[in-house]
Amino acid sequence: MTDALAPAAVYATPMRTRFRGLDVRDGVLLRGDAGWGEFSPFWDYDDAESAGWLRAAREATDEGWPAPLRASIPVNVTVPAVDAATAARIVRGSGCTTAKVKVAEPGQDVAAEQARLEAVRAALGPGGRIRIDANGAWDVETALDRLRLLDRAAGGLEYVEQPCARVEDLAAVRRRTHVPVAADESIRRAADPLAVRRAEAADVVVLKVQPLGGVRACLDLAEQVGLPVVVSSALESSVGIAAGLALAAALPELPYACGLATVRLLERDTVVDPLLPVDGRIAVGRPEPTPATLAQVRADDLTTARWTRRLASVAAGGAA
Ligand SMILES: [Mg+2]
Repeated sequence: MTDALAPAAVYATPMRTRFRGLDVRDGVLLRGDAGWGEFSPFWDYDDAESAGWLRAAREATDEGWPAPLRASIPVNVTVPAVDAATAARIVRGSGCTTAKVKVAEPGQDVAAEQARLEAVRAALGPGGRIRIDANGAWDVETALDRLRLLDRAAGGLEYVEQPCARVEDLAAVRRRTHVPVAADESIRRAADPLAVRRAEAADVVVLKVQPLGGVRACLDLAEQVGLPVVVSSALESSVGIAAGLALAAALPELPYACGLATVRLLERDTVVDPLLPVDGRIAVGRPEPTPATLAQVRADDLTTARWTRRLASVAAGGAA
């Protein structure tokens, strides 16, 4: 076991808006010769699924990342499943020209989604791009029905992310709609991420550095899949977001805005200069925590103990 596997800090911060069922985001920061890394698998992920997250953190602390090909990354504003007025306010305040809008939220009807998309289109103007994310919630027929309505409400969708859970259903939807399909969960939570390619199930793939085991692992996967890549976050603090920026900066092509502008969803961050967009772009960089910033996000003793145990458990599994 190396020094990098002792937590340098355990952070916890409230979310500004409930997202992915989370009110609080927490995780471990590690520090090594190459810099800081973040290990923050969601609590519903077991040790086996968290192993890639740890590989990503150790790449950050022990190796660092490939040289960047670009100095800033275009990003989308993320619109949670909020009411229309709030959605418009989030978009207008973002400076972004691409919006990713959450749909298929349990307990909400399609009328709320249509109103949200109409408000986002009004806020962005005709030149903006709107993508939606259903997180695999629909079956094929529901997806086709919703896409017809939501594409119209949005005044045209850039793509729909993970309309259905299964790869064969993504492929079926893709054959029957003009809206491009992006695969997210089918890549990062799948035993075989290349199944998406074989089934011709997607036009775009969403890659996330932590779940997929690091920047280099994502670059390899992007090459194998051979489809355009959107780099998205796993709702990390700026320490983790820096790894996503490093991936986006190292990809040979970057035709879409990335989903890396999520630090705003956190009430507090781990660094002095959070990785936030200016005019729709985030400058590629690697801000560092300071004692003062770590003091602002320090987790309580119980949370710290849970993460310390979890880190040791995932590390032990990976070594076995
Ligand atoms: Mg997604």
